[in-house]
Amino acid sequence: PIVVPCPACRSLNRLPRERVDDVPVCATCRGHLLGAPVALDAASLDRAVSRTTLPVVVDFWAAWCGPCRAMAPTFAAVARELAGEFVFAKVDTEAAPALAARFEIRSIPCLVLLQGGRELRRVSGALPHAQLVQWLRGR
Ligand code: ZN
Repeated sequence: PIVVPCPACRSLNRLPRERVDDVPVCATCRGHLLGAPVALDAASLDRAVSRTTLPVVVDFWAAWCGPCRAMAPTFAAVARELAGEFVFAKVDTEAAPALAARFEIRSIPCLVLLQGGRELRRVSGALPHAQLVQWLRGR
């Protein structure tokens, strides 16, 4: 099974990997579990990263950041496309400055790919759709 945080209520849900294509819903709020980025704070990010078996990609962003806003639809589209392969998380660096500091985020947008609590790689600056998919898949 994979463990994914609900985009609507952030509660963690376990589901069999083969159910990923069945439009699974959250056991708590019945919202769609996959296909949208999840807004997380320090506590919910740590919980999700420690519980999920999937790689977690975190988009560190802020509302005042034009390139962040410009990349948001791309990030959301890739979250739909690669649903069930990664957990797509967003951290508002204005709302969670301590978390941004912990990850030593110096410029945004910054994408950080985590697996099992370990950072695999990061990239700063907005990526177009194809490059974002390639970066996630390590190519
Ligand atoms: Zn939910």
